[in-house]
Amino acid sequence: MGRALLVLALGAAACAPVASGPPRGADTAASQRADAAARAKPGAPAAVAETGEETYASPDQGTIEDEVETSTAPLRGGRRSQHPLDAVSNSELERRLVSDPASLDSISIGRPSGGRLVNAVQMPQSDRWELVDADHAWATRETVDYLCRAIGAVHERFPGSPKLYVGHLSAREGGPIAPHVSHQSGRDVDISYFYTQGQRWYGRATAKNLDRPRTWAFVRALVTETDVEMILMDASIQQLLREHAAKNGEDRAWVDSLFRGRDGLPPIIRHVSGHATHLHIRFHNPVAQETARRVYPLLLRHQRVAPPVQFVHHRAKDGDTLGKLAKRYGTSIEAIQRANGLKKKNLIRAGRVYLVPRAGGPKAADPPPGVPTRRLPPAPSSPTSRDGV
Ligand SMILES: [Zn+2]
Repeated sequence: MGRALLVLALGAAACAPVASGPPRGADTAASQRADAAARAKPGAPAAVAETGEETYASPDQGTIEDEVETSTAPLRGGRRSQHPLDAVSNSELERRLVSDPASLDSISIGRPSGGRLVNAVQMPQSDRWELVDADHAWATRETVDYLCRAIGAVHERFPGSPKLYVGHLSAREGGPIAPHVSHQSGRDVDISYFYTQGQRWYGRATAKNLDRPRTWAFVRALVTETDVEMILMDASIQQLLREHAAKNGEDRAWVDSLFRGRDGLPPIIRHVSGHATHLHIRFHNPVAQETARRVYPLLLRHQRVAPPVQFVHHRAKDGDTLGKLAKRYGTSIEAIQRANGLKKKNLIRAGRVYLVPRAGGPKAADPPPGVPTRRLPPAPSSPTSRDGV
């Protein structure tokens, strides 16, 4: 199957994203970053420069708690969709990786809090949004497409809607970017709310300025038209949107399921402090995650990617030793010592929190990633006729 066919199988990009070049060795990482910076220059940080307002806190002000541990086990009610590489043998995969790596398309490796990204796609420029930091606006093709689709749904419903501000997605090759815990594997994005007044990046959304119809339309499209995994949103904003949804005739049980979880399904929209200034959205990437499961061992063998590392915060209990931690998390005593600046072997104290580094890449033996069935509202629910602006 040729590249054209593969791209076709993945669906036409909703908004003509810019694909990155083929994956290259670590030695070219710096020059790639320089490339990206050069490309990103025109107008990219304008949103920040123009407003001169607060933005992401600097790294020494701590990280944004944007990681919520989500299960990697096959998902309940999940489906296994067809994958463009299903019919491609491992030896053919290897041949392609060497001769035409771009034909493998985006690869999302590991976890959002310990991951890498290969064949990234850059969120394009648009009159519908402003990129806050184009250098960190890379993701998988699926993530970019999902995001474009959900924003597009708002504009179809409310033509002439104001611009959103698109914050960080991922770095071009993934991995850690300050001040985030996650955003490492091309599946996360930070994005502004819609405001009725004074829109700017990192503006605090309140009852006074939240544009409820547009923000709800955006969330609704994420849930019904994309494979969204979770949306981090401050509880105060959740309350405003739930009231809006109820007033506009949305099915109560369905709305409850999104915000509270229901029938054994976890909530999609969750409160994590720090998310009154922006939404954090994470998508399932059934294509890019399955490609990673297939291709990761080959990427390692050909040194096309540095193995991702995830740092787990472990609070030591009585009886914990470095040896026990190393065994439990599949790492080494030395690695834990290095991560925590420990000198003496096995000297850890109960109650203290230790960083435990563990390998973040997928294993070939992992089951293919599932995708949960989309949570759609009951059929006749059509808020369109009742939902006045
Ligand atoms: Zn985030």
